[in-house]
Amino acid sequence: MRVVQNLIDGAFQGASGGAIINVFDPATLGQIATAPDSTAHDVDAAVEAAANAFPAWRDLPVKARSGFLDRLADLVERDSEEFARVESIDTGKPLSLARSLDIPRAIANLRFFAREVLDTELEAYETAQGRAMVRRRPLGVAACISPWNLPLYLFTWKMAPALAAGCTVVGKPSEVTPLSAWMLAQRAVEAGFPRGVLNVVHGRGPLSGAALVAHPRVACITFTGGTMTGESIARAAAPSFKRVALELGGKNAAIVCADAVAGDAVDATVEGIARAAFTNQGQVCHCASRILVERSAWDRFVPRLVARVRRLQVGDPMESTTDLGSLISAQHLLKVAAAVEAAISEGGRVLVGGSRVDSAVLPERVRGGAFFAPTLIDSLAPTARSNQEEIFGPVATLIPFDTDDEAIAIANGTRYGLSASVWCRTDTRAQRFAGALDCGTVWINSWMVRDLRVPIGGVRASGLGREGGTESLRFFAEPVAVVHGPREVTSPQLQGSTHA
Ligand code: NAD
Repeated sequence: MRVVQNLIDGAFQGASGGAIINVFDPATLGQIATAPDSTAHDVDAAVEAAANAFPAWRDLPVKARSGFLDRLADLVERDSEEFARVESIDTGKPLSLARSLDIPRAIANLRFFAREVLDTELEAYETAQGRAMVRRRPLGVAACISPWNLPLYLFTWKMAPALAAGCTVVGKPSEVTPLSAWMLAQRAVEAGFPRGVLNVVHGRGPLSGAALVAHPRVACITFTGGTMTGESIARAAAPSFKRVALELGGKNAAIVCADAVAGDAVDATVEGIARAAFTNQGQVCHCASRILVERSAWDRFVPRLVARVRRLQVGDPMESTTDLGSLISAQHLLKVAAAVEAAISEGGRVLVGGSRVDSAVLPERVRGGAFFAPTLIDSLAPTARSNQEEIFGPVATLIPFDTDDEAIAIANGTRYGLSASVWCRTDTRAQRFAGALDCGTVWINSWMVRDLRVPIGGVRASGLGREGGTESLRFFAEPVAVVHGPREVTSPQLQGSTHA
């Protein structure tokens, strides 16, 4: 049993009122930890510490800030197996996934922003009138609020660019999965980060999260989570004009064209779609939850996909043969089950899955866990609620289409606009789709392939702003135009990073 603590001003401590949150392994429903149920008082202390640490951190040479992030990456890498195990028991995800995706990506995030901040070129424009430069001045205290589905992956995706750009951080990880952020905080202390530069406050969203968002000394908020929460954060931040980046929910379409199902191509397409729909038990914001299939390919593609999904192994996250672990909680399982019931009552037909995994077929260790069978449903209108609202579980629908325009209209026909994937062997056709899909990312014959330099984010109810590469670094800094008159055109400052 672990006792998670806040990191405030370089010291580990419980919530000021002593309240705790019990933390469970969703695969066994056994308690694994307690975490502080922090209050506004704890948030005040963390923001105060971050504000005090800010001037010195901002004024460090950018190379020094980069060096701290690299050291932190080294320590996470050193302990990567421990991180992967903890991430798996905290979330219920397969250990193999935590090992291959979550932890390597967290390390990559730290290393990437350590490099990226050194590589950004100083922006300067010469004209006959003189020289105009852009300096990027760090904003101050950054609030980094992250969800439970990819805990360390998404927490580092926020705190690393914030710190690299010269902000200090108050992090608020999900109360459902506090463990890896707590371990990261321990490694940050070991890496020698000056006190107050990285603070981590654990607790419930409506209490400590809301207090952080409303805090007058917080300069900017980067949030990943649900659309409703994002809306309430945007409202709370509006009166003080805090800068806000929101990465929210999705109802992502995968468009399967007939040529991606012809001949041998079918196997790769089936495999790709199964991965896109069910990785992390469907609890990735980019998961394909609506699979649009060209009608002429339906009979060839759908039975193969159903057969592949039937073969997915749901079970003990610790077993190397497990494809899907447990959902994040028993409560979330009830929500997913209710969504499937609602789909059936709307006329949906379950092709595979559709219910909780029978505990009798599960290994004894995980019999009480929150396991839901990967589920495919068809016969629902594109406008049905089940095709409009995010389920965030291992449930995807299948929808036929006849023309590309129809596929585009269906894909764009929700309030979300996070990402889409196009499975098509004709490049010009795939590119036409990419140009017409109203979302932040379009993957072609692939899914979740990421180049960290490329911006990622959503439109409409899927969010505001972009993360990745220079977009992330720019979010945490105010661009200041510095314009020199003609006599000052020769200056050694023309070289170096724009993030002073
Ligand atoms: P959530 O919105 O419930 O919680 C996310 C975080 O916000 C948690 O740390 C929570 O404590 C905090 N929070 C909750 N209420 C708050 C408030 N009023 N003020 C401040 N903070 C508050 O989301 P979740 O259930 O943890 O995550 C699942 C959701 O996240 C899904 O909708 C998923 O699509 C979305 N998500 C989006 C992306 C993306 O990149 N677009 C990535 C992962 C997850």
